[in-house]
Amino acid sequence: MVTDAAAIIAVEPITTYLLDISGLRTCYFLSVHLFFEDMKDAYNREINYLRLSVTDRCNLRCRYCMPEEGISKLAHEDILTEEEMVTAVRACAQLGIDKVRITGGEPLLKRNIISICNRISEISEIKTLVMTTNGILLTEYVKELKKAGVQRLNISLDTLDSEKFGRITRIGSLDKVWRGLMCAINEGFEKIKINCVLINGFNDDEIPALVSLTQKYPLDVRFIELMGMNEDGFFNENSFLPSSAVLEQLPELQRVGDNGVCTLYSLPGSKGSVGLISPLTAKFCSSCNRIRITADGKVKPCLHSNQEISIKGLELEGMKYAIERAILEKPASHGLTLEKLSQSGRSMNRIGG
Ligand code: SAM
Ligand code: SF4
Repeated sequence: MVTDAAAIIAVEPITTYLLDISGLRTCYFLSVHLFFEDMKDAYNREINYLRLSVTDRCNLRCRYCMPEEGISKLAHEDILTEEEMVTAVRACAQLGIDKVRITGGEPLLKRNIISICNRISEISEIKTLVMTTNGILLTEYVKELKKAGVQRLNISLDTLDSEKFGRITRIGSLDKVWRGLMCAINEGFEKIKINCVLINGFNDDEIPALVSLTQKYPLDVRFIELMGMNEDGFFNENSFLPSSAVLEQLPELQRVGDNGVCTLYSLPGSKGSVGLISPLTAKFCSSCNRIRITADGKVKPCLHSNQEISIKGLELEGMKYAIERAILEKPASHGLTLEKLSQSGRSMNRIGG
């Protein structure tokens, strides 16, 4: 029988109540499953989006993301197994999550990536399966990804200049990414997005060229404000460029909408849109709908918080409980500013962006 206490939980802000009933876990746990069709956090945000990082390894060394020497390898036993990754997604699906983004590190370096995608796309509650990749290995994988149920791709590309690409990624070849991108278009991937991190003095002079990709190709370009993840010195007030710079350079961009984290614009007659993602100048935390799971099995309620809840080694029900806790503990907003670095305690390749 459902108790009055459980009924109250369904309408009260969860964390307040959670504190009150901290000794009554079973009651709280039951109630959430009985009453919430959609998983809401303590601030009434519906959480329906998981970013799953399948590896922290990468074949590039982007200066804003990873140290030059790479990262110390995780021990095999510390990484989520394929089975655990799929179980984690199942747990999320049972909590109301219906969109999964596969990320990394570089997800296409993961040996069993196709099998992971296949199995996630077979989970009936998951309606959208997408991937963020640096595109280096895309030519080889594009067909298999499509077959495995990956519906859309975000490809990271900060510059259209080969020499600059080599400089920002330290070791990358623009040519490979471009070929991967063209293969993905030819393979029929729709709504491909280019993720471009805005960096003052590096690619501010390429904004019009990057935007013009939306006129030539069926692509959306997303400009992302650079976030200071660690003390490596790459991020400072000189490297930061507010997303408003895009509008200053291209006043002809017309606002066409927004989807919570991204404000959308387009050039008249273009094939794709231009999105501005502004975690620093226009915080979108109030519409945050996501949680993250890292390759070593930590659920991160917020990208910029060091709060982590481990799911490594747990079965489905245990994972569900841990993920639910993470959702309920999502902070109201992140503390990242121009002056204050991220408190995440991880470099971006170890979270997934
Ligand atoms: N390796 C894949 C890639 O680069 O697309 C996926 C992982 S990467 C961490 C995911 C996204 O995070 C990329 O689009 C990347 O540009 C972005 N990113 C990494 N570090 C960032 C930072 N310091 N500020 C803003 N975006 C960042
Ligand atoms: Fe690798 Fe992506 Fe980080 Fe670049 S942004 S180093 S490609 S994980």
